[in-house]
Amino acid sequence: MRRVLRGAFLNTMEKYYPSYYNEFSCLAGECPDSCCTKWEIVIDECTLNKYNALSTDFGNEVLSQIIKDEEGDCCFLLNNGRCPFLNSHNLCDIHIKLGEDFTSEICRNHPRFIEEYDGFTEISLSLSCPEANRIIMSSEKSVYPTPLYKGDDEVLELLISSREKLLSSDLGFSSLIKLLLDAAADDSLDIDLVYIENHPDINVAFLKNLASFLLRKSEILTNEWKAYLENAEGVGISDEEFEAYCKSNDEALVKICRYFIYRYYLKAVNDLDIYSRALFIASSCLFPAFIACSCNVTLWEAARLFSKETEHNLFNLDLLLGFFSEF
Ligand code: SF4
Repeated sequence: MRRVLRGAFLNTMEKYYPSYYNEFSCLAGECPDSCCTKWEIVIDECTLNKYNALSTDFGNEVLSQIIKDEEGDCCFLLNNGRCPFLNSHNLCDIHIKLGEDFTSEICRNHPRFIEEYDGFTEISLSLSCPEANRIIMSSEKSVYPTPLYKGDDEVLELLISSREKLLSSDLGFSSLIKLLLDAAADDSLDIDLVYIENHPDINVAFLKNLASFLLRKSEILTNEWKAYLENAEGVGISDEEFEAYCKSNDEALVKICRYFIYRYYLKAVNDLDIYSRALFIASSCLFPAFIACSCNVTLWEAARLFSKETEHNLFNLDLLLGFFSEF
């Protein structure tokens, strides 16, 4: 199949949003898990220039809290895991004193994911944010739009079409996972002549192995997640018990699955590794279900933590895609 160069089309974008997108409004000081804690807050160049141009005491204070991380990016020096400008009411002092325009681009965008493709942009909300999570999981019939693709990248066209079929199906969770893996196997054959003989069984043994892998290899952000991984690694539940748990949470798992299909299926256009992505998507639903089934945590919260630990950490994301490329 013919590929086209990506990257020269970023200005002429049609924008697409899930149907629940406009329901989101940041909880700010009421948030039970502020995004201004634990994460490193990278400061983009434009915002840094604004800070450098300030000649006030507060401007000097802002500059005094900026360090360079290992990758050479400027970011705020966390104080006990908190952004130094997150005040005791869990509100942003930069926003209060200087206005939203002076917050870093990453702060203004969060919890939005912005994905640019050939001629269109998809903007969605992250499951990691408690309020976005509530909206995504409580939304009755969320619609994930199909972009009107006018370009000539045949791979992207095929992936859009497969994703549309997946997102428009009315199947229950286990059938949707099967359809996803079948579609990815078909697309792998069409795109890259890769023949997938059998789908791996994503059972309890597989998920326990994944818990061990994440415990040893991933960058773990929160103590809760570490404790859940440790517990899941040694848990004694059977495949039958896990299956029964998934069946009794079918509707929620379908919502989580549709979220991950929307977020990741098209991304295979970048490296053509569609089957690893499909396994990643399937496991992104089954692993939180396994955590929720084996630990004292709800499925929503397990999915939220999985998203927080994985979707916002490129190292962890690449690690997992690498894990699934072994199958
Ligand atoms: S996690 Fe979500 S609701 Fe909480 S402060 Fe961040 S954007 Fe707002």
